[in-house]
Amino acid sequence: MRDHIECLASRPRFERLIRMRDTGDGHFKTCSQCGFVWESRESFLKDPALKMIGYQVHGEDQREGLFLFNHDCHTTLSLRAGHFLDLYQGPMFQARLIGTEACPGQCLRQGDLRPCPEKCECAYVREVIQIILNWPKQPVATRR
Ligand SMILES: [Zn+2]
Repeated sequence: MRDHIECLASRPRFERLIRMRDTGDGHFKTCSQCGFVWESRESFLKDPALKMIGYQVHGEDQREGLFLFNHDCHTTLSLRAGHFLDLYQGPMFQARLIGTEACPGQCLRQGDLRPCPEKCECAYVREVIQIILNWPKQPVATRR
């Protein structure tokens, strides 16, 4: 069996779609509990008041998976993985190994955010998770 690496040229199409959806109200995300507004993805990623705590894999579409974050107002926010997938520019694979013997099982445990070494369709989402976890934190200016 050979590995298929998806051509990166096919990505901008869905990224454009995601951006269009994001510009609906001009905000990246609003906290459902305290109402705090993150104007951009950048401000969301660098906010030390947010802690990524989980990933819910979607059965068919990686973009529809959910990234879970705890906000310091003690609520959990969920955002579609599709908002973040363009952060990773490395190789992608088409084989879906989740649930097979080759699957190390991280994707079956919501709170397991470790990377996956397998050449699986889901592995690049876990690379995105590492990028999010390692994003340099900086207090959001509007909080002063
Ligand atoms: Zn909040």
